[in-house]
Parts: sequence; structure tokens; C-alpha cells
Amino acid sequence: MKKTEDLVIAIDGHSSGGKSTFAKAIAEKLGLTYVDSGAMYRAVAVYALENQIIEQGEIRREKLLAELDEIGIEIRFSKTRERYETWLNGKNIEDEIRGVEVSKWASTISAVPEVRVAMVDLQRKISENRGVVMDGRDIGTVVFPKADVKIFLTAAAEVRAERRYREMLEKGLSVSLQEVLDNINLRDHQDSTRTASPLKPAEDSLDLDNSKMTLEEQMDWFEKLLEKKRGISR
Ligand code: C5P
Repeated sequence: MKKTEDLVIAIDGHSSGGKSTFAKAIAEKLGLTYVDSGAMYRAVAVYALENQIIEQGEIRREKLLAELDEIGIEIRFSKTRERYETWLNGKNIEDEIRGVEVSKWASTISAVPEVRVAMVDLQRKISENRGVVMDGRDIGTVVFPKADVKIFLTAAAEVRAERRYREMLEKGLSVSLQEVLDNINLRDHQDSTRTASPLKPAEDSLDLDNSKMTLEEQMDWFEKLLEKKRGISR
């Protein structure tokens, strides 16, 4: 197996399954860069909402494609807030991208094949010549089919909704549990049934259902997995 700093770790799974928490913990443990690929689709949704690409509940496809090159997305690390943040055309949109409206449109817009091509390009570029932990829906299947470790993370929809609901309340966002659950069910459906890169486990990915697991337990599971992989490749 490669040196730790060169490892590419793909974490895919359903919405709000704790992918980013798990991926960040792995990145920190191994000293790798963490990339949240979903934040990029969210940034495209913010652009579309702000630039009349989404109007009357519809995506204006022609306009979206014509302006695709003007959507400048960057992921920057904020030393003061000790987190990666998403920037859109020079503006920090990290807080904006987590709301229900953006979540809903991110899922819809991510089904547009041209958007996916542009985002996959960006995801590969960010990860050029360095190890990463990236989370998303198609990381192990499309973005990095040769990733060193592929994990498919999931949990029951009700468990995911409850976690997400609490997170949103803590952030002071006003939302109901039912609204969050409906949004999760809708996104699960959209992500798994779209034609372009539908959400599905890679053939060589390992499943982890974290419905009843703490982060520590997930990390123990991951460390054992890594040890086993290292043992095999020795
Ligand atoms: O992961 P997150 O929920 O932030 O992603 C927002 C949306 O972007 C998802 O609902 C999903 O539809 C889409 N997405 C995707 N492919 C990825 C990451 C996210 O289609 N690799």
C-alpha cells in the first residue's frame, strides 16, 4: 500500500449520513486534505438561485450551461474558524449552502450531466498529486475509481433526519423534523435514480451502517480496516 500521505480515501453514501464528520476525522487522523464534494454542488445551486437560473421551480438548462464557466468555486481553509469553507466567485458562502432550499436544489442540479463533468474535473484537480479524503455520492465509482479505500456509509433515514434536525437547530435555522425527513427522502430518491452517476456502492467498497455507532466506534472500525489493508499489501 502507498505511503499514508498519498492515500486516496473515498466515502460515499446517502444524505446526512455523517460522511463529512467521519471523513474529516479520518483526514485529521492521517494528516490528509479533506474535500467535501457536496459543497461544490451546493455552490452551483447558490449561483443558480441568485442568477435567475432557477425560476418558478424549474432549472433553466440553457442558461445554466451558458454560464457554467462563470461559476468559480474554491474550497479554502479558514485558519480562524479551523474549517474548510466554500467560496463562490470570491464570496464566502459556507453558511448559505447548508439551508434546506439550497440542499433541495443541489440535488436537482447535480443530476445535470454537464454540471457533474465540471465538478468531477474540479474534484480531481484539487486532489492532484496529494492524498485526500473526499466524501460524496460518486467518489468511489466515478471520481476516483482507483481509490485506495472505498467506504459506503449509511444509516436509517429517520436517524439521519434526527441528526440533521439537531444540527440545524443548533445553527439557529428554523425547520421542522418532518421537513428535514422529507428532504432526506427526496434527496435519497433523486440521488439513487438519476441517470448521471447515480448513488450506488462501488463494487469494491465496504459498507458501514453507522445508525447505532458513535464517531469513536466508526474510527475504530476504520483503523482496523486500514491495518488489515496494510497487512495484505505487505
Ligand atoms: O453531500 P451533500 O448533501 O452536501 O451534497 C449536496 C447534494 O449534492 C446531494 O444531495 C447530492 O445530490 C449532490 N452530490 C452529488 N455527488 C457528490 C456529492 C453531492 O450528486 N459527489
